[in-house]
Amino acid sequence: MGETQVLRGGCQCGAVRYSARVEGNEAYYCHCRMCQRALGNLFAAFVSVGRRDVRWERGGPAYYKSSEIARRGFCRECGTPLTFEYLDEQEKMDLTVGSLDEPGRMRPAEHFGLESIVEPFFTDDGLPRERTEDDEEFVARWRAAHGPGPAPGSSAGPSST
Ligand SMILES: [Zn+2]
Ligand SMILES: [Zn+2]
Repeated sequence: MGETQVLRGGCQCGAVRYSARVEGNEAYYCHCRMCQRALGNLFAAFVSVGRRDVRWERGGPAYYKSSEIARRGFCRECGTPLTFEYLDEQEKMDLTVGSLDEPGRMRPAEHFGLESIVEPFFTDDGLPRERTEDDEEFVARWRAAHGPGPAPGSSAGPSST
């Protein structure tokens, strides 16, 4: 927790700009395979914000439905990944820390998607780590949309959704 601050950010080409009010400065890493694919990187860094606290000041994201439970916003002109949003979540959404004008104002608090951490590129910083399959809220959401099979993060689960 902490003070409310206003974050500003946008995509690489400038077609999409946003502002967002957030409580505190906590962000998280996600190392899951879906985020690796979506960002073309070895992990994602996200800050969770209230949907109603985000204003699209210029343009707005295009969306890719990355599974039955989530969509990912990006700039249709330059491709910058901007958001992660659960389809059934009315309150919260995530913004990519890298799209912020001042990403250094955020502090990482947790590693998610532990099962897919790319070890040679990962330095243990002592922060808590959680596997995707151990996130009960995520697994419940996934099962409700995709059925009873294995969820992402389990050894038999899908690796690219
Ligand atoms: Zn752009
Ligand atoms: Zn992820």
